[in-house]
Amino acid sequence: MAARGVLIGGKWRQADAGTIAVLNPSDGAPFAEIARGGAAEIDAAVTAAQAALDGAWGRMAPLARGRLLLRISARILDKADELARMESMDVGKPLKQARADVVACARYFEFYAGAVDKFMGETIPYADGFTVMTLREPHGVTAHIIPWNYPLQMFGRSVAPALATGNACVVKPAEDASLSSLALAEIALEAGLPEGALNVVTGYGEEAGAALSAHPGIVHLSFTGSPEVGRLVQAAAARNTIPVTLELGGKSPQLVFADADQDAASATVLAAITQNAGQTCSAGSRVLVEAPVFDRFVAGLSDRFARLQVGPADRDLDVGPVINAAQQMRVNSYLDLARADTLRIAGEGQILSNSPPAGFYVRPTLIADVDAKHKIAQDEIFGPILVAIRVRDEAHALEVANGTPYGLVAGVWTRDGGRAMRLARRIKAGQVFINNYGAGGGIELPFGGVKASGHGREKGFEALYGFTTVKMLAIRHD
Ligand code: NAD
Repeated sequence: MAARGVLIGGKWRQADAGTIAVLNPSDGAPFAEIARGGAAEIDAAVTAAQAALDGAWGRMAPLARGRLLLRISARILDKADELARMESMDVGKPLKQARADVVACARYFEFYAGAVDKFMGETIPYADGFTVMTLREPHGVTAHIIPWNYPLQMFGRSVAPALATGNACVVKPAEDASLSSLALAEIALEAGLPEGALNVVTGYGEEAGAALSAHPGIVHLSFTGSPEVGRLVQAAAARNTIPVTLELGGKSPQLVFADADQDAASATVLAAITQNAGQTCSAGSRVLVEAPVFDRFVAGLSDRFARLQVGPADRDLDVGPVINAAQQMRVNSYLDLARADTLRIAGEGQILSNSPPAGFYVRPTLIADVDAKHKIAQDEIFGPILVAIRVRDEAHALEVANGTPYGLVAGVWTRDGGRAMRLARRIKAGQVFINNYGAGGGIELPFGGVKASGHGREKGFEALYGFTTVKMLAIRHD
């Protein structure tokens, strides 16, 4: 098994500390190796990134950067099949879901390719004898710490706008799913990205990740992952007084009222908790159903859960394995808790009997009549576990919707336009969807959280603001 190296200054090299085995979540067996980068490799990567900014990359015009990103996007699509198979094996996600991730990743590069030469500062009306303007400038060397749940999409979401606006990047993918980040870096180099503009250092979070977040040479940090680690990287960044974008997951509610299209809601509620085996920061992991339709809605959902098939990623079923043994134990511990507390298991999917026994499978489960304050209704489980909560009316639904530490996404299902708008304004979340959930995930749609879900916005034009800093220029000419 040849180990993939780290990419620093356009050159691939091995890490001083050796390698990390990569396991296939579908059968638990190792199938590749990645480099175990650490402080030395991070330091070299930050130096290479700074050198790129001081060289040709730092002077490249927005139009040229845009065209380069467009070439990267096209190459990603050319290699869609290969990338999807790699991601599916590495993360355990069913092939069709991995294919969708490839398309989304390419779309990030396409969107920011087209946006960057239309992104500009302002002139400001000011005193006689002055002309005042704002310049939007790149931060410089940016750090990108990426999770394992959607590596292709997260890479595109973070790296494409950073490169588009002229930053240089040091990427630390998750140790459980680094292969697609390495492949994307290779694609970017082949497409003509100058050496050092994009560096990828694989390795453990507490080694490479910690070294990157504390490095004095980085001037902006984007992190997606757990709240615990989010707080660590924010503290590390604070010591260097640099801005941080944190995307830390959620316990996102879908509110289903008696007047809603129950069928449409039911299908979407199921998809929002089973996609990627529930390992989605924006997963709709709580469904809040108005009392008059609660029993009927839960019964319909139970039938849908019963039809779910779980198995190896290459079988392309509804649900694949979760990422690793620790995550499998974590999800199962919540199911144990539900049983211990005699909560009502209202629906369960089936794990195919011929799935490899060492694969990291968990059973998708619907738990009904859960108290909104129960641990299972409060914690981000990050698995295909949906809790159904009975709500009395709109006011109660709002209280429960806002009643967790998180605030990432919410869905509202109702035919009452006034109620939809009231709730849209009162729910504390970064994204609200009315009679849908996710709107297809468009790159154009700003994304991020409030409260414990983090801060800062990614996607859409917001990411271009996030990856640039404003310089005010005042010229006196009287
Ligand atoms: P994590 O926060 O530990 O890992 C995310 C990234 O941070 C990885 O690249 C990891 O290597 C890195 N990291 C870990 N420790 C670090 C440190 N001390 N300094 C700097 N970087 C570090 O997340 P996880 O262990 O992979 O997953 C645990 C939980 O996090 C999940 O159960 C889920 O709740 C949450 N999660 C959320 C998202 C999301 O999209 N919001 C994604 C993945 C995981």
